[in-house]
Amino acid sequence: MMELLVVGSVALDDLDGPFGRRPDVLGGSASYISVAASFLTHGIHLVGVVGDDFPREHVDYLVGRGVDVAGLERVHGKTFRWRGIYSETLETRQTLDTQLGVFANFRPRLSEAQRDADLVFLGNIDPTLQLEVLEQMRGPRLVACDTMNFWITGKLDELRRVLERVDILLVNDEEARQLSGVHNLVRAADAIRMMGARAVIVKRGDSGALLFHESGVFAAPALPLEDVRDPTGAGDSFAGGFMGCLARAREITPATMRSAMIYGSVLASYCVEDFSLDRFRTLTTLDVAARFRAFHELTHFENLEL
Ligand code: AMP
Repeated sequence: MMELLVVGSVALDDLDGPFGRRPDVLGGSASYISVAASFLTHGIHLVGVVGDDFPREHVDYLVGRGVDVAGLERVHGKTFRWRGIYSETLETRQTLDTQLGVFANFRPRLSEAQRDADLVFLGNIDPTLQLEVLEQMRGPRLVACDTMNFWITGKLDELRRVLERVDILLVNDEEARQLSGVHNLVRAADAIRMMGARAVIVKRGDSGALLFHESGVFAAPALPLEDVRDPTGAGDSFAGGFMGCLARAREITPATMRSAMIYGSVLASYCVEDFSLDRFRTLTTLDVAARFRAFHELTHFENLEL
């Protein structure tokens, strides 16, 4: 297994949508990524910050999943809070409020062991913090990164500096268009690769995800699901499944990247079945393996060439 360092938000979310409202639930990019990855690998180190209002039980849950929380600081002040509301069809969401809280003054300080991690995932958070983490790393084998409209609008220069140093950028289709200024996703991915990222993964909700890299394009479908309650964290869970698979595979090749795209889709498909990280609380490794096989079935076809 390779060691995986995850930096990102650890949040208290207030979610609203057709399935009701859930105030004050565990959220944040780093929470979803670490927990999703924990179904595939060990050696996950979380770097982030929470305030003194953050319930102890959430930290216990992360520890219970085997996540190393030595890099999760608890300081005086308020935990990052995000409030979002989904449309009736769950297809669109609106951010109603973002309160940075203790993240406003956070300066990540990595331990010796954390600096040596093989894989780094810069979860959605202020690109300035993403850069500070990168500057402390000793030479990771792979750096992947996520961002969102909030930072594309507010911190584009810093984000561009991050992109010069990452191997893979994961974004959703809207973010890819916003970042590149191009509507067509193939062209948008090309434009983003020109900014520095060697590969781009575009997440398209229930239309699946696309990987654009040196060896061409790979498409992972989304599993057609009967029960979708809360899409929050789907992108981050995808990232966790993707990185967890690479860490487990111990090698980064076009073939392992493809499997990682499917494990990303597996973890994302579970995430949306319930609010917050709740679906992960009952999930088992056997469930993950079963859904990986379901994806294989879903996409397998014979090569009946003409
Ligand atoms: P996703 O649905 O994958 O985009 O991730 C949603 C999670 O991202 C929520 O749990 C939020 O707490 C977190 N989040 C929302 N906005 C931000 C932001 N500006 N910076 C960092 N994390 C955020």
